[in-house]
Amino acid sequence: MNRTLDERLDPIYRDVLRRNAGEEEFHQAVREVLETLGPVLSKYPELGEKKVIQRICEPERQIIFRIPWQDDSGEIHINRGFRVQFNSALGPYKGGTRFHPSVDLGIIKFLGFEQIFKNALTGLPIGGGKGGSDFDPKGRSDDEIMRFCQSLMTELYRHLGEYTDVPAGDIGVGQREIGYMFGQYKRMANRYESAVLTGKGLDWGGSRARKEATGYGTVFFAQQMLKAKSDSLEGKTCVVSGSGNVAVYAMEKAIQRGAKVIACSDSSGYIVDEKGIDLDLVKRIKEVERRRISAYTESRKHAKFVGQQPIWEVKCDVALPCATQNELNGKHAKLLVENGCILVAEGANMPTTPEAIRLFRDAEVLFGPGKAANAGGVATSALEMQQNASRDSWSFEYTEQRLEEIMVNIHRRCYETAEEFGSPGNYVVGANVAGFLKVSRAMLAMGLI
Ligand code: GLU
Repeated sequence: MNRTLDERLDPIYRDVLRRNAGEEEFHQAVREVLETLGPVLSKYPELGEKKVIQRICEPERQIIFRIPWQDDSGEIHINRGFRVQFNSALGPYKGGTRFHPSVDLGIIKFLGFEQIFKNALTGLPIGGGKGGSDFDPKGRSDDEIMRFCQSLMTELYRHLGEYTDVPAGDIGVGQREIGYMFGQYKRMANRYESAVLTGKGLDWGGSRARKEATGYGTVFFAQQMLKAKSDSLEGKTCVVSGSGNVAVYAMEKAIQRGAKVIACSDSSGYIVDEKGIDLDLVKRIKEVERRRISAYTESRKHAKFVGQQPIWEVKCDVALPCATQNELNGKHAKLLVENGCILVAEGANMPTTPEAIRLFRDAEVLFGPGKAANAGGVATSALEMQQNASRDSWSFEYTEQRLEEIMVNIHRRCYETAEEFGSPGNYVVGANVAGFLKVSRAMLAMGLI
């Protein structure tokens, strides 16, 4: 299935494979970008001469550390913490923190690498980084989560700062975890440095609409893709994988913009409600009760729960993968195409496998890659930093309006760049090239960094 890379890019990719053995997700993310850069090197040969791509593929700094902590019974646990400070050409490192047992260096590097281009696309002054731990928060008490976050920050605080590196949430990390980390940072640094973390609570420096931003932004982006085809979301059936923060607010905005959302999922299976998902019920089950999505059918008897099957078998016009990496493979893509799906926009990071992306392209399904489609989260984090810097706090309406403007601009930049580089309608090319060019220009201007 592997297509050959441009002869100038192939040695770079081979070097990445050799130097980062076993880091499959990182390889995948790098390859996806390199596949689109051939025409860029032809147009701007100095980028090749100055080895900008090789430099971008190497993180500026990688921090790996021990996180010892005690559970409620007194037992000692040792987890591993990561922070990959990938690129600071456009601003302080910026990117989330993931707590999940699958986390390893390769996962954090793929996320950090994508974050560089995503953050560049927002047009805001943020570099790219990512962090996390193989800690599994499932079933842990509040106290255990707090002790873990404190132990993590006791080590990490010396590497952070509003002008250095600004973490936020990701899978397994929400406002509660950010609160515990911020509290410990404040003690260690003896500084009330609001903009050192984003995704904070509204009472202590957080931004309105940050929680909603990734999901809302994905829908704003999808709307722009449809608009470019003189179409709209109105009346479209929509399937959203996941039921976490991104999925819930993607569903909320899709419904507000006239779509009919009929299915969502968690790691145990999916629910279908042909009358339209009752979002308040999903929020209660997932956010308040923290139960499995199958509980939905207890209150909505006509809905059905399907375990162990991919949600992508549900017929829909619009598919929004909002769960996790590589959740939508070639087999799933075939099902979606056969069932008449016309648009896929990624709310999660790299949820679609390379084979599935190719199938969508061949079938002319509109495809919005995460770097562009889910950039609303980190963009609103940058808006949170702006509010912190001016000690201000904006209304929900104003913040959402700024977010929508940013997503419209990202769409336009991707759309125009794809045209300029000979791949009209290819948002993967548009996002990679536009993001890459912005970072490269800054790097060239700053000399050999
Ligand atoms: N984790 C989110 C992402 O993948 C948000 C990062 C942030 O707000 O810094 O973009």
